[in-house]
Amino acid sequence: MFILGRPDYKDSYWDGCPHVLMTHVVTSACVNHKYQDCVAVCPVEAFRELPTYLVIDPDECIDCGACIAECPVEAIYADTDVPEEEEAWIEKNETECVDAEIAEGDSPILADD
Ligand code: SF4
Repeated sequence: MFILGRPDYKDSYWDGCPHVLMTHVVTSACVNHKYQDCVAVCPVEAFRELPTYLVIDPDECIDCGACIAECPVEAIYADTDVPEEEEAWIEKNETECVDAEIAEGDSPILADD
């Protein structure tokens, strides 16, 4: 029997075809900056907010890539493009998004402090 990962994963666009499932990832450059320009362009409210940085919920991200160019500190990557030294952030996004609030994009920008 052939089982492809999680058939409920990203069920908003799941079409039963064996695509490689991707997400985008916030990395360490966001820490203590939280510019949040990315939140405004995300079409699916995939960003989650923690006290000093954002993460992306991989179950919500549709991999449109719109947020990458919006980040002034280049903190966002497709999961396949994350630099080796930032790879721990792939799991960090996945685990920390679970209990975090949806980012509204209206929190103070920490880099301005
Ligand atoms: S890649 Fe698109 S869907 Fe995913 S977090 Fe960025 S803007 Fe949102």
